[in-house]
Amino acid sequence: MMPLVDLRSDTVTRPTAGMREAMMTAELGDDVFGDDPSVNALQRKIADLLGYEAALFVPTGTQSNLCAILSHCQRGDEYIVGQLAHCYRWEGGGAAVFGSVQPQPLNHQPDGTLALADIEAAIKPDDAHFARTRLLALENTFGGRLLPMAYIEQASALAKSKGLLRHLDGARLFNAATAQAEQTGGDVRAEARRIAQCFDSVSVCFSKGLGAPMGSALCGSREFIARAHRVRKMAGGAMRQAGLLAAAASYALDHHVERLAQDHALARRLADGLAGIPELQVVAPDTNIVFVDFVGETRERMEALLKSLASRGIEANTGMYRLRFVTHMDVDAQGIDRTVDAVREYCSRTKV
Ligand SMILES: *Cc1c(COP(=O)(O)O)cnc(C)c1O
Repeated sequence: MMPLVDLRSDTVTRPTAGMREAMMTAELGDDVFGDDPSVNALQRKIADLLGYEAALFVPTGTQSNLCAILSHCQRGDEYIVGQLAHCYRWEGGGAAVFGSVQPQPLNHQPDGTLALADIEAAIKPDDAHFARTRLLALENTFGGRLLPMAYIEQASALAKSKGLLRHLDGARLFNAATAQAEQTGGDVRAEARRIAQCFDSVSVCFSKGLGAPMGSALCGSREFIARAHRVRKMAGGAMRQAGLLAAAASYALDHHVERLAQDHALARRLADGLAGIPELQVVAPDTNIVFVDFVGETRERMEALLKSLASRGIEANTGMYRLRFVTHMDVDAQGIDRTVDAVREYCSRTKV
């Protein structure tokens, strides 16, 4: 049996032996009493790394974004956000449901950014007719794309000058930092901090490319994190001996940041391999996500390809009607080459 090549998401990774060891030997306490040393150490580590006063360990990125929006905004406030941003589109409308915070979604530019002019035009005047515009929420990476640093600085400065708070959904912040470090020749951790410093709060996932089984962190000022702590409690996210999981996240921060470059190299290897197939349009990846479209083809053809891949032990996904392949620490070059061969074989066998 050939090993399964699972390219559905970077969330599918299993904890490594080293990570399991760190979990099993973690010092534990009751985090609701604030005395789990492993949770406290993780919160200190991520806050220091990204240059924030405080951090909060939460079970998921969704809860992290919810805590952020509900801590920045009151009932009747609104946040400006991308149409396809996770914290608007993919989180069940939680900010509106639980917080009565209205989203003001904006269309994305082709590079994934929100046009500065659109942001400015969406900010409502202080007038009883309107919701109070309180927050700008950006996402980096967005759909696997790195937002340009210059853009982030401009958007952040614009929001600040208009009195808005700024939240970054940095579920894959370290993938963004890895791609940015490649451009600047800088250090990945320094780049992560540079991006994070443009915001009032940042959410980071440990369960994606960093390879932890679960968990995210929300970073912000001490006072902001105190409010987020209350929201986390209301959302049912206050956990007890959570140090077991915080230890995995901490191990991931120590050991799995610099290796993200390998995932990006594999994504490029996959994109380069698939780019040779005439029927396919392949988007050159910035990070670890490769999107592929069939030229002028239908959804059925995509579904048939996925079935054919699955029969060969290769799993991929259709994200928003495109093929989506995500690399991570549990795939290797052999798996990528097998995927390229399988897609090529399918396309030539079924060519019309
Ligand atoms: C995965 C992800 C999240 C959080 O997802 P959870 O499954 O709730 O951990 C948030 N934002 C983005 C951009 C993500 O990719």
